[in-house]
Amino acid sequence: MNKDQKKRKKLRKKYAKYIPDVLYNEEDAYNNREMNVVSFLFVAIFAVMIIYLIYFKVAVAPDIIDNPYNKRVDNQEQKVVRGDILANDGTVLATTKKDDNGAEYRHYPYNNMFSHVVGIKSEETGIEGLADFELLSHSDDFMTQLWDDVTGKKMEGNSVVSTLDFNLQKTAWEALGNNKGAIVVMEPATGNVLAMVSKPDFNPNESPTKYNEWLSFTSEDSVLLNRATSGLYAPGSTFKVITALEYVIENAEYDAFSYNCQGTVTVDGGTTIPCNNMKAHGDENLKRAFAVSCNCAFSVIGTKLNRTSLSNLTDKLLFNKHLDIGIESAKSSFVLGENSSLSEAQETAIGQGNTMISPMHNLMITAAIANNGVMMQPNFIREIRDCDGKVVDTIEAKVKSKIVEENYSKIIKEYMRGVVTEGTASAFRNVNYEVAGKTGTAQYGTQGLSHSWFTGFAPYNEPQIAVCVILEGGYQGQSAQYVAKKVMERYFNGN
Ligand SMILES: [Zn+2]
Repeated sequence: MNKDQKKRKKLRKKYAKYIPDVLYNEEDAYNNREMNVVSFLFVAIFAVMIIYLIYFKVAVAPDIIDNPYNKRVDNQEQKVVRGDILANDGTVLATTKKDDNGAEYRHYPYNNMFSHVVGIKSEETGIEGLADFELLSHSDDFMTQLWDDVTGKKMEGNSVVSTLDFNLQKTAWEALGNNKGAIVVMEPATGNVLAMVSKPDFNPNESPTKYNEWLSFTSEDSVLLNRATSGLYAPGSTFKVITALEYVIENAEYDAFSYNCQGTVTVDGGTTIPCNNMKAHGDENLKRAFAVSCNCAFSVIGTKLNRTSLSNLTDKLLFNKHLDIGIESAKSSFVLGENSSLSEAQETAIGQGNTMISPMHNLMITAAIANNGVMMQPNFIREIRDCDGKVVDTIEAKVKSKIVEENYSKIIKEYMRGVVTEGTASAFRNVNYEVAGKTGTAQYGTQGLSHSWFTGFAPYNEPQIAVCVILEGGYQGQSAQYVAKKVMERYFNGN
């Protein structure tokens, strides 16, 4: 054994207990120590990266993905196949498919039927926009994600189960026919939106080629405008719900109200208001005036209400405010103030004047009356499921605000029932469920055209659904209450 060999043997002995079966020399040993340092650094860097990735995915990603202007969304779309949007019975309303070249595209199996409420992916409207983050999220574990990242395989996004009832949506869509207008159906106790239709509508499958053409339509003919949430209309006689509510809040003796309707009324310093077809309603109390929708009585009430108090009430009811319902919507407007004219006060009280409201907003107020004065947050999503169908999140009902004390909402509820039993909503007089509601005719423009409204709920004692319908002026067929009846029939009798 020469000197060199002895040295090696010594070194080997020294390192043998750590790493056997390897020949060492001094240089090896030195390199090994260097390697250990490098390995440690690699492990440390890798650990930091993992911690950052976890932090990014858990804490930061939701904010970044939710921002539609951030490129990270595109990045997420490259990694995740956008999930499906389903009706509450699991029917697929929007899904991702591949064309012959392997390019992904969004497919909407029911064409126009769900167009406004499901929305268009590329425009981030409707539920497509509302649930963008959930549809591009996934529930794969971390190792699967890393593996997919390395292999370039796309992950499957979560599915969103909406609150939409397929059959009710179909009925509402058919009931609206070729008319312009909107229908919204909601559960008063949960705020869950069961159906939402706006016409004219569009086929979202054609949006890649036709969107620019649709954009060029005037607002009156617009197929892209979701009239249910962004269409603003004079409320007509449906506003008498609010006038009556303010009257009973201001007058403890509201029961003693009496009025003799002559068919028209002229107020000194104000204007002349006619009842429908100048019909004289004769002697009436407040409940009766509400049931027959007496313009004369309500326009006179309008001149007597405390304007500050009425303004506070309309504030609470979300006039002049964003509805904040998760999808696109327009602000309703109420402008009657201390300096407004007497005739404006008369007109405002019967839903003419300068007040404007969206069908969704009108329905939210009706549903709150049905729900003992508590307005629920309108909700479009029931739960989120992963690609295996496992529920990963459930959306709970949320109170939006208490709009009035329960005793006041009860009085208005009873009045709305009177509209059906002895008033203008005769469509619901002989049905096997008890409806309460308010009809409305809202004149607009100069050609004597008027919109037809109905907003109501059923059953009267334990409301399960609230329905609001508007048919724009010049509509074909029966008025809004008959359209609402088709939806109610479907819900209660399945036909
Ligand atoms: Zn009258």
